[in-house]
Amino acid sequence: MINQEICVPPQTTVLQALARLDATGFGALAVIDGPRLVRVVTDGDLRRATLAGRQPSTPLSELPSHEPICAAEGDSAARLMELMNQHVFDHIPVVGADRRLIDFISRRELSQRIWLSSPHLGDEETAFVEDAFRTNWIAPLGPHVDGFERELAAHVGVGHAAAVSSGTAAIHLALLLLGVKPGDTVFCSSLTFVGSCNPIMYCGAQPVFIDSDRETWNMSPAALEHAFEWAKKEGRLPRCVIVVNLYGQSADMDALLPICERYGVPVLEDAAESLGALYKGRASGSFGVIGVYSFNGNKIITTSGGGMLVANEAAVAERARKLATQAREPAPHYEHVEVGFNYRMSNVLAGIGRGQLRVLEQRVEQRREVFETYRRELADQPQINWMPEPEGYRSTRWLTCFTLQGPGAAKRRDAVLKSLERHSIEARPVWKPMHLQPLFRGAPYFPHSADDVGASLFEAGICLPSGSNLTAEQQGRVVDQLRRALAEDRRAAT
Ligand SMILES: *Cc1c(COP(=O)(O)O)cnc(C)c1O
Repeated sequence: MINQEICVPPQTTVLQALARLDATGFGALAVIDGPRLVRVVTDGDLRRATLAGRQPSTPLSELPSHEPICAAEGDSAARLMELMNQHVFDHIPVVGADRRLIDFISRRELSQRIWLSSPHLGDEETAFVEDAFRTNWIAPLGPHVDGFERELAAHVGVGHAAAVSSGTAAIHLALLLLGVKPGDTVFCSSLTFVGSCNPIMYCGAQPVFIDSDRETWNMSPAALEHAFEWAKKEGRLPRCVIVVNLYGQSADMDALLPICERYGVPVLEDAAESLGALYKGRASGSFGVIGVYSFNGNKIITTSGGGMLVANEAAVAERARKLATQAREPAPHYEHVEVGFNYRMSNVLAGIGRGQLRVLEQRVEQRREVFETYRRELADQPQINWMPEPEGYRSTRWLTCFTLQGPGAAKRRDAVLKSLERHSIEARPVWKPMHLQPLFRGAPYFPHSADDVGASLFEAGICLPSGSNLTAEQQGRVVDQLRRALAEDRRAAT
């Protein structure tokens, strides 16, 4: 739904139009007759009309007119920009059939894209990176790698850490360390990013997907129990269970860990999205036999690309480091007895990581504040169900997510996302569950109950811009545009 403040009827006078332009600050008005766009009026049009001797009381319908240049509903942000450049406009109306006004977009919005989750550097990263340059420690490995491992392990309260080139690499190494071999099965949360389970395929193993519950959006203990019962009957227990902590929130570890323990199967905790989160006072990622974090560009802290594997056993971290450096035996002539990988993090990137780790708690506060602002500003919107944060959990709100209430959610979700995208706001659907991905067609899947929770969270879920460096003005833009999109959603439903 379009901002009604910037729409006026044709009988509006020049003086009224000037006052409205002044009040909205948008820079242009859409003159509409019923739902139909008649013309666009800018400051410049009114100034020229005045200079040509028109009275302030002249209605807009009497000003010289021309066919408005319009964009079509499906046009991309790039196309809108192209049209504005071509015609030297700073505003472009978007119209549907019969020139029904759908939206009105400004150049300012399009040139200041709002990202879902952009990197946010602190004050100390450059000092660490400069140190790497000054000491010529550009080669991979070096004091910052050791320092970053030590500091991160201490931060999350785990004995040891190994810094690697990505979260995906850390998961791959973790699977190998847990003994995953070709033909094995691995249980994994279905509602996740593909980086959680691609490494299962690298090992030649087969994934079995487990649904989420509605309280945490993470692995459902009921579904996990069913999967184990099935696996036991088949005589084929999984080699490990990958429990994913989505969008900055831990899974229900007190319910999940005892089930895995009962079957004697270790847990690999994919905490790529939940660094900084707590579960009953303990750091997310510290519950599994092995935990994994990611420092990809969109995560809560970043090294531009990187990952970390954490474990309480020193031998696990040591073996991870060895496998990540081509599995070199300790011999001066480079002796090799097993396959290794080139997965280590570089000393330069570890320097960025050390600086980022110092602002992690601040980033958590900032992301939680972004969420609180959305919750407060959109409290009157009946279609919004925020991702819950149960008692005893402390989410980082890495991404602010909600589901749309009501029937036909998938189509409505797409309409809302499209409307945000037209205003150059990057929002996304919730992860498409792995059991619905063509890549994993045929893989066994255990839903929470008759209700496929992951599938319905995907259909109705939206992730909003949530960066810790989102300005109040930017968040205001998201809130305003989302309110309009939700009003349109309600209108379409009636
Ligand atoms: C980002 C992410 C990964 C992979 O991390 P990379 O560093 O991008 O390889 C794995 N699992 C989840 C849930 C993620 O969000």
